Amino acid sequence: MLSGPSGVGKGTVCSVLRQKMPELIYSVSATTRQPRQGEMDGINYFFKSKEQFKDMIARDALLEYAEYVGNFYGTPRDFVERTLASGKDIILEIEVQGALKVKEKFPEGVFIFLLPPSLDELKQRITGRGTETEDLIANRMTVAAEEMNLIRHYDYAVLNDEIDNACRRIQSIVEAEHCRSERY
Ligand code: 5GP
Repeated sequence: MLSGPSGVGKGTVCSVLRQKMPELIYSVSATTRQPRQGEMDGINYFFKSKEQFKDMIARDALLEYAEYVGNFYGTPRDFVERTLASGKDIILEIEVQGALKVKEKFPEGVFIFLLPPSLDELKQRITGRGTETEDLIANRMTVAAEEMNLIRHYDYAVLNDEIDNACRRIQSIVEAEHCRSERY
């Protein structure tokens, strides 16, 4: 489980990890947010209307979901359960509220909090993305500051100073977790 504030680079870290660790299966979330330029349905997200999303909630098709700055985001349950049953590792890239809900259901999961070098740097990254209005940037920064207080619920905190460094740290964590004595 890779989590942390919006703008910290979870998406970028995940896409680099997907190349470096092709054995990791990536969970594609559902969202009611509009696609950003270049995003593809079924690859980056399953883009849903509010009605479709509510229907997924009603059918208990989501492992967790959260409302985040005016949009809904959720993890399709079936895919996660089938992947785990097949003995493979799955990576979820989700915000902090959702991650904590998943922790209640899968306490044996490995929870990694991706840290920005600083909140100033985080703001620059969100602003630099050029996709958000001033209000949305302010909302995302408020949420980020609150989320930073929840690091203690995670197993690991990984600094995302450089993408390659962060990926290397995460690869080490995955490898170490596979070597835990209780797995034998
Ligand atoms: P963005 O709009 O920048 O793609 O995502 C906003 C936030 O929603 C990010 O922190 C992202 O990790 C989170 N997110 C993406 N998918 C999910 C999900 O399935 N569940 C939850 N709870 N958060 C998600």
